[in-house]
Amino acid sequence: MPAAVLDAFRAAANDWVSLEELQAAASRKIAEHTRTEAGLVTSGSAAALTLGAAAIMAGHNLGRMERLPVTDEFPNEFLVSRDQRSGYDHAVRAAGARLVDVGFNEVVSGAGVRRTEPWEYEAAINSRSAGILFVHSRDNAHLLKAVCRIASAHQLPVLVDAAGELPPRRNLYEIAACGADLVAFSGGKAIRGPQSTGILCGRQQWISSAALQMLDMDDHYQLWAPPANFIQREGFTGHPRHGIGRALKVSKEEIVALLTALDLFASGAYDVELEDHRRRLGVISTLLDNSSYRCSLIESIEEGRWPILEVIVDGRCRETAFRICQELRQGSTPIYLGHGKLDEGILVINPLCLKDDDARVIGERLLEF
Ligand SMILES: *Cc1c(COP(=O)(O)O)cnc(C)c1O
Repeated sequence: MPAAVLDAFRAAANDWVSLEELQAAASRKIAEHTRTEAGLVTSGSAAALTLGAAAIMAGHNLGRMERLPVTDEFPNEFLVSRDQRSGYDHAVRAAGARLVDVGFNEVVSGAGVRRTEPWEYEAAINSRSAGILFVHSRDNAHLLKAVCRIASAHQLPVLVDAAGELPPRRNLYEIAACGADLVAFSGGKAIRGPQSTGILCGRQQWISSAALQMLDMDDHYQLWAPPANFIQREGFTGHPRHGIGRALKVSKEEIVALLTALDLFASGAYDVELEDHRRRLGVISTLLDNSSYRCSLIESIEEGRWPILEVIVDGRCRETAFRICQELRQGSTPIYLGHGKLDEGILVINPLCLKDDDARVIGERLLEF
């Protein structure tokens, strides 16, 4: 977290505030940055997915809010492309949603290169369908647009997992602009807010439902006066009790810190650090110059995204790569390298959280192997 974010966190601890009012203010700021109707600060992108699914299934129905995660009696199915399934979709299932896979994971066959197509979503829609879960990646915005058109024709909301899709900064608003109803971002990744924060943004009606299912509901219906542009009290015949998201609460300090970080991120304030990231990776690759490793600096094609360094171990040996990765974690200064390419014998170094001295330490440790 940048110093300004920590200062904001600390300052927020000094004042009492109504969380409903604070989230309503957060909603306005998030809406501005994302060009959506409303937003909510959540406890991570995973919580945003749980709340988004809960909002879509329960809406403003008090009985449904109360019953979640038991969803047998109302539409509870979310269509998801088979090649977008991941461990993170547990967060959607946690709300009581059932995932229905569409398409095929033909990437594994080598021959078939067709990804899931829009018609396959449409063919799977039925009366049990509650919405569509879509995991955004750099190359699937055109599919998202087509899926949103189909979903809208069937009055199904689309919930997008875009947790790690920032930068580029424009994704703050371009993903929602594809027609998505709700978009989830991590606050603790490149936005550099508290690691435990996230953002849910999109249509007011779902954000309002998500907020109701997360906020503390210890109040009396007669006294309850939520900010009208955030939650419409008139729609309710009674006061909801604590919802499924009550276990996912965020503190006022986290909210204020996240919003501060969001302003910084959206203004491009972090871009000046790209050169530092590049320089630190350069320190590592220079140290490894005459070794049996081969280094390659991978520049991102996304604006504002930092490069990464791939360190290829001798002979691209998988076992060697695993062993180095493990031993580095167990050293007196534990080092956690990216482990997504170990099968190819490649160690990955993401510079985002490195300090100058770290780069030298990593390079020297690697040389010990
Ligand atoms: C990181 C990530 C998440 C979870 O985000 P948190 O903010 O850590 O909860 C969800 N989905 C994807 C695709 C992610 O990369």
